[in-house]
Amino acid sequence: MRAILPPAMLGILGGGQLGRMFVTAAKRMGYRVTVLDPDANAPAADFADVHLCAPFDDAAALQTLAASCAAVTTEFENVNADAMRQLAKTTRVSPSGDCVAIAQDRIAEKSWVRKAGLPTAPYLAVEQAADLAGDLAAYLPGILKTARLGYDGKGQTRVKTADEARAVFAELGGQACVLEKMLELKLEVSAIVTRVSPAQVAVFPVAENIHADGILDESIVPARIAPELAARAQQYAVQLAEALDYVGVLAVEFFVLADDSLVVNEIAPRPHNSGHYTIDACATDQYQQQVRAMCGLLPGKTELLSPVVMVNLLGDVWAEDGGEPNWAVLMEAPNAHLHLYGKKQARVGRKMGHYCVLADGVDDALEQARALKDTL
Ligand code: ADP
Ligand code: MG
Repeated sequence: MRAILPPAMLGILGGGQLGRMFVTAAKRMGYRVTVLDPDANAPAADFADVHLCAPFDDAAALQTLAASCAAVTTEFENVNADAMRQLAKTTRVSPSGDCVAIAQDRIAEKSWVRKAGLPTAPYLAVEQAADLAGDLAAYLPGILKTARLGYDGKGQTRVKTADEARAVFAELGGQACVLEKMLELKLEVSAIVTRVSPAQVAVFPVAENIHADGILDESIVPARIAPELAARAQQYAVQLAEALDYVGVLAVEFFVLADDSLVVNEIAPRPHNSGHYTIDACATDQYQQQVRAMCGLLPGKTELLSPVVMVNLLGDVWAEDGGEPNWAVLMEAPNAHLHLYGKKQARVGRKMGHYCVLADGVDDALEQARALKDTL
């Protein structure tokens, strides 16, 4: 496939923090970028050449993207997959609308993971009340997750009994869900793969992810797991990308169980919060990979240049009146890298930024990263 080279115009659907980091990567390489996002204050718009401030299914805006961009990608999965398929008729789009459609629906996602030969938690697709009529013991205690539009633990309810599952499903107004067995997790890890073609695949080092209240809190790299287990997670991610004939950056979240078996939790058809560390600690970062993949270029080298810990900064760290945290100590630390997303309003649970701490060892990096958080 013909390579798209700078200063070509690239397009991205979505202008949140992932879009912002994509834009900065693309701009550094000399590309121009058009962002489509309905929010006038979209974080990515700060750096974009063009901001199309319109809904994601706006026909005129999509027409402009198709006409002006050499290639288009997305920074989140809840875009209209049909709009992506439509765009693909006249311009290069990656990942494909089909892959995005799979990632935006937990039922399709889990059945694809199984089709690829990989394990998921025991789950039941719940499209109507009757699906919950039978014996649910295999899925309880469990989590009822809405099939669509969930993120950061939203759209999820823990249920202990079948009656509870039925009641929660009814409360959700009957929208499609999966009932998933609650597993005992030893750890959570993720692997991010970049695939351009069958022969052009690169995987980043595996991140160990610590969540708080269903939201990613810290990523630790390298993950504190056996090298064989990390290699298996990477191999699973590649296997999934192959099964989907995926082009672009694909993130795969895993559960590690007590017996060191790996279960695929979910996938994201884009760079991932747990891959932010690649900006500061890898030879190539996940946003550069996204640019490279959409442009038909070989993936860059993914080796880790230093152990690293990434800490998410949620709006919780800001004062109630919106006052900034005290950045002084963090900014003075020579091995810390602060990334703020330029969001105008800090809200509890809202991702406002992150920082990475690099050190000779991961334990040291973790200790320093946590100490820095206490200074904010
Ligand atoms: P989201 O789209 O919100 O990230 P996830 O399905 O990844 O949704 O769930 C968020 C978090 O909830 C997971 O990272 C994990 O900590 C916990 N979780 C989700 N499903 C399970 C499960 N089946 N067993 C145990 N913990 C779970
Ligand atoms: Mg998740």
